[in-house]
Amino acid sequence: MKSDETLRSVSRREFIRKGSTGVATALFAPSILSCAGMGSRENKKLGIALVGIGYYSRSVLAPCLQHTQNARLAGIVTGSAAEDRDFIEKYGIEEKNIYSYADFDRVADNPDIDIIYVVLPNGMHREYTIRAARAGKHVICEKPMATNAQECREMIAACKKAGVQLSIGYRMHFEPYTQEIMRLARDKDFGEIGLISVGAGYRHTDYDHWKTKKELAGGAMMDMGVYSLQAARYSTGEEPVSVSAQTFKTRPEHFEADEITTFQLQFPGGTVASCETGFHASFNYLKVYCEKGWYELEPFSAYNGIKGRSSKGEFQFPDINQQVAQMDEVALCIQEGRPMRVPGEEGLKDMIIVDAVYESISSGGSTIPIPEFRG
Ligand code: NAD
Repeated sequence: MKSDETLRSVSRREFIRKGSTGVATALFAPSILSCAGMGSRENKKLGIALVGIGYYSRSVLAPCLQHTQNARLAGIVTGSAAEDRDFIEKYGIEEKNIYSYADFDRVADNPDIDIIYVVLPNGMHREYTIRAARAGKHVICEKPMATNAQECREMIAACKKAGVQLSIGYRMHFEPYTQEIMRLARDKDFGEIGLISVGAGYRHTDYDHWKTKKELAGGAMMDMGVYSLQAARYSTGEEPVSVSAQTFKTRPEHFEADEITTFQLQFPGGTVASCETGFHASFNYLKVYCEKGWYELEPFSAYNGIKGRSSKGEFQFPDINQQVAQMDEVALCIQEGRPMRVPGEEGLKDMIIVDAVYESISSGGSTIPIPEFRG
C-alpha cells in the first residue's frame, strides 16, 4: 500500500467511458461525478488540518489532498513541528496554520481551517473530535471512531451541539465495487444471503507501535477488524442481533492488545457472517453466498485494485482514488449543507458491535445479544 499507488484517480472522462460499459456503474454516477467532475472550484476549496502527522497523514492523505477539487491541505496539528519540517515545506503549510496538541484549540480563530481531520491513535479520537467541534470546525475522524460506543455518543453529541458535521474515515463507502456489494444487499439479485465470509489482516512486526498495545486502543479488531465488520454490515444492509468472538495470540510477548480475532454475527434476516482479522498474516477477502449464486471481492478493502466476480462473471468498475473521493465529497456536503454519506452514527454502530465482541471474548466466547439493534 504505497502512497503513489493511491493516486490513480479516475478522470471524469475515463469514468464515463468505463461506466458506460456497465449497467450497475450508472447507479454510482451521482456520488463519483460530484467528486471527479466538479470543474473549477478553486476559490471554494475548504481548508483541512490534519491532526497527527504519522503514516496515514504523510503517506496517503497529504498526497491525496494534492488531487482534491473541493478541499486543500491548509494546516497541521503536530507533536513536533521541528520533526515535521520536511512535511511543512513540501506542502507549503503556512506557519500560522501549524498547531501543537496543546494550543490546538486556538484553531477556533483561524478562518483558513474549515475541517479538522483526526488521524491520531484510536484512543485519542474522542478528545480531538470534541475539541475540534468546540472550536466550531467540521470533523473527519479516522476509523475506528473511538474506543467504545459511549465515546462515540459523546462525539456525536458534541458535534450536534456545536452545529458542525462529523464524518468517519470509512473510505470504502466511496468505492464502486463496494457500492455494488451494497446494491446487491438491497436488490438481492442472487436471492437471500446465507453466509458471508470476510477477513482483513496484515503481518504486523513493529512491536513498539501503539497498535500492539491496549493503552491507545490498539489491537487487530480495532485496526483491520472494523473493515471485516463494516463489510458484514454493508453486505447485508442489516444490523446484527448477536455476536460471538474468540481471540488468539501467536506472539504473546509482542502483543498486549489482540493479535488475531474471529467473530460471528447473526443477522435478523437469517444471514450469518464469519469474520476474521489479525496481525499475523496478509489477507483481504469478502465472499457472499446466496440462494442463487455467490459473489466476492478480493481484495475488498485495499486502497486500490479492488477486484470482484460473481457466479455470473467478472465485475467491472472503475478503480478510483478512494481518499480523494471521500474528502471531496465530505467538503462538498459541507459546502452544500447536505448530510454525510458516512456520519458519526455509522461509526457508532460499529463500536456497539465491537463492545459486544470484547464482551464475548471476556466471557469465553459466549453469544452476546445486541439489544440496540433489535428495533
Ligand atoms: P501512526 O502511528 O503512523 O501515526 C499516529 C500519529 O499520532 C503520529 O503523528 C504520532 O506522532 C501522533 N501521536 C500523538 N500522540 C501520540 C501518542 N501518545 N502515541 C503515539 N502516537 C501519537 O498511525 P497511523 O497508521 O497513521 O493511524 C492513525 C489513525 O488513522 C488510526 O486511527 C488508524 O486506524 C487510522 N488509519 C486509517 C486508515 C484508512 O485506510 N482509513 C489507514 C491507516 C490508518
